[in-house]
Amino acid sequence: MDPLISSLRTHYGWRFFKEGQRSVIEAVLSRKDALAVLPTGGGKSLCYQLPALIQGGLVVVISPLVALMEDQVRQLHSRGIEAVCLHAGLDAACLADALQSLQKDSLRLLYLAPERLNGNTFRTLLSRKANEKKIVAIAIDEAHCISAWGHDFRPDYRRLGDLRSLCPGVPLVALSATAAPKVRADIIRLLNLRNPFVHVASARRSNLHYSMKRRPKEALDEVVKSITGSRGAVLIYARTRRAVERWTKSLREVGIPALQYHAGLDSSARQHALNHFLGTPSPVLVATSAFGMGVDRADVGLVLHLDLPATPEGYLQQSGRAGRDGLPAKCVILFSPGDRVKLGWAMHAYCGRDDRASLVTPQEKERLESAQDQLRRMEAIAEGHLCREQSLLLSIGELVQPCGRCDRCKDSGSFRDWSEQALILLNALHSKNSLEIYNLIKTLPTLEVEKDETWGWLVRRLVQDGLIWESSDGAQRLSLKDSGIRFLAKPWPLNYAA
Ligand code: ADP
Ligand code: ZN
Repeated sequence: MDPLISSLRTHYGWRFFKEGQRSVIEAVLSRKDALAVLPTGGGKSLCYQLPALIQGGLVVVISPLVALMEDQVRQLHSRGIEAVCLHAGLDAACLADALQSLQKDSLRLLYLAPERLNGNTFRTLLSRKANEKKIVAIAIDEAHCISAWGHDFRPDYRRLGDLRSLCPGVPLVALSATAAPKVRADIIRLLNLRNPFVHVASARRSNLHYSMKRRPKEALDEVVKSITGSRGAVLIYARTRRAVERWTKSLREVGIPALQYHAGLDSSARQHALNHFLGTPSPVLVATSAFGMGVDRADVGLVLHLDLPATPEGYLQQSGRAGRDGLPAKCVILFSPGDRVKLGWAMHAYCGRDDRASLVTPQEKERLESAQDQLRRMEAIAEGHLCREQSLLLSIGELVQPCGRCDRCKDSGSFRDWSEQALILLNALHSKNSLEIYNLIKTLPTLEVEKDETWGWLVRRLVQDGLIWESSDGAQRLSLKDSGIRFLAKPWPLNYAA
């Protein structure tokens, strides 16, 4: 029998590889660097676990989340595989135990939090093990955390750049669920991967049904309807801790036993929420984006966002927690036009405070602008009339056909021509040169249209269509672009769905 399949059967009892696993494992076994972009649930952990078992050596795994590491160590132990995990939260006894097992040649997997590499103890240890040729590979999980362009940048990950020189000759394998081309390039560059084998799987998920709609002022009914109409577990994302608490309370008041999760809760409350989410038949969890990375529950039937997500890439990762079992699942966003402004200001407030202004580095400024840009793109997807999946995937550099399942594919809305109103708006802007959005809107006549469509809405359409330029500092300063000036000279039809 094929030796790889036979190890897969012996150690895991599985009969086939999932897409991409075999080629990544083969690369690692032939001591090549590798970058694997596999969707959530795609089976990334096997890509670095199996080489350790086949070669009877140690694989070091860098992972950003303690819960995720502990969970994997538990699973490995249940398969009789020796593994330990080293993070700052270990008490003295556990730490001593863990250090003890590091001395054993039978150890197969060592999970390390990235900050462990800040000190010399583990750096020396890794370097010694590498010298003794005991390390089969070093795996960097959630590798997109190294890139400032990604949706989950972690400064600790920057230290990983010197793993290459710390452990020369040891193959590095970087893994991530979604990584836009720019982020992939960053991973390869910052980790110093050499001629890496690259496997990028499609992020397309044929069982997810996206819909994005305006959040009504009183959204409770809408949320309850979505929850009761869905199967399995329900994951609800709110932007702030306060919103998480408020929504949990409101849901409980109408008889839905929701639990909350955010970084402000103490660790036992968080653990309780996590256990509840993993262990009960149809849990409803309300959480901030702190929840979710590595949470492995297959039958999540609904992922609902109560605000506009901050980036398309982050949204793909969060919505991707739905339907890991392959059965149909729903991903719903309830957004309001004010969301981007609020979120934009929150980002801006950090760098824009007068007492900090002089401390903001050019890199920070660039990151802030890129964050504003991502936010604008997310808004364009939510307010736009294109297939949700197609436009989400486009934002991470993947081209696919319209999905046929999302709200837009099923009903693209009724289109009408907005060029007449655009002309009024662009003329007003032209006479003023550059203007904040609210000052512009003040000068315009009342727009006589259906209730939801306002001048602000039309401004956003025109920004997305490239007729207006909007500042990236969160202040929403507007000016005409060249194509806006061309439009004034000779207007063309602008068909937008109302
Ligand atoms: P990821 O980290 O990519 O989200 P995991 O490594 O957690 O994915 O794997 C997802 C699920 O698929 C896990 O429950 C794992 O046990 C299972 N799995 C992984 N590889 C295989 C395989 N070859 N055959 C069957 N199940 C697999
Ligand atoms: Zn679609």
